Amino acid sequence: MNNDYREVNQNEQEEQQIYLETPIYKEAVNHFRTTQYYFISFNSLKIGCGFALLYMNHEQTYLNYWILAIMFHAFIMIIIHKNHLKYLTMNKRVLAYKLDQIVAAPIVDQVIESRKLNILSRQIKLEIVKMTIFGKWCCRIITIIYQFIFGYGVYLFCIYYSMKSAELMNQYYFLCAILIISLYQYIDLYLILVFAILGSPFLLIFGCYYCANLFGKEQQRNEIRTRLQGIKYKPNLIEGEQECCICRCPYELNEEVVVLKCSKLHHYHETCIMSWVNINNTCPFCRKSI
Ligand SMILES: [Zn+2]
Ligand SMILES: [Zn+2]
Repeated sequence: MNNDYREVNQNEQEEQQIYLETPIYKEAVNHFRTTQYYFISFNSLKIGCGFALLYMNHEQTYLNYWILAIMFHAFIMIIIHKNHLKYLTMNKRVLAYKLDQIVAAPIVDQVIESRKLNILSRQIKLEIVKMTIFGKWCCRIITIIYQFIFGYGVYLFCIYYSMKSAELMNQYYFLCAILIISLYQYIDLYLILVFAILGSPFLLIFGCYYCANLFGKEQQRNEIRTRLQGIKYKPNLIEGEQECCICRCPYELNEEVVVLKCSKLHHYHETCIMSWVNINNTCPFCRKSI
């Protein structure tokens, strides 16, 4: 009776322990949330400053249009980030399963490496972006183009307009600051892009060289294949062991057999030596070139 009770109790305990999120996942979720809040507050700040600029520039109609555009963009960005946060709250558990961050027993002292944490929070972001409306590929492309137009185009125009008149110097500094912050958010992405563009001539040359090399090898193989003429197997035609040196199977009558020029004893099934030629152009037995 006592034993039974203990068993039941243990089972209950196990059930309670099952399916826990790993500490690193919880940390990554917090990390992701913080960045989303950062984006939301950054965009709210833009809207606030937009109002202030509108108030200051009541005579500069052109500049005002552009500022309104920036505020609109910031508003859309807030909606997107809020949407991500909402999705995360609703699907935290599902995401943990997807990212393999569910464990049976609680992990007490998991060392949280910042590198792993960054990777995980990036994965969380990717998953969320994929699942929300802006992650569908057509929406994604539109969002990227839209981001570029608003992120840089509109700011550049604003900077241009405010530069034209000396009274708008404050606005000019402010717009430059926002542009630099927007650039800084994706600095790693831009660096990769810059390196890719700088390295493209080398990549192109390397690619051509690689293709030519591949093509040359393929031609060499084809040439070897045509050179290796098979003969129909008859016991008196072959010297030495009456078996293929690759697969060690005895030859059957009328099977296609290839005897290499290196030695009369080095003979193989035609199919065996042909598949060998794909990876090597030497005799599998003595390593002399075929
Ligand atoms: Zn064989
Ligand atoms: Zn050989």
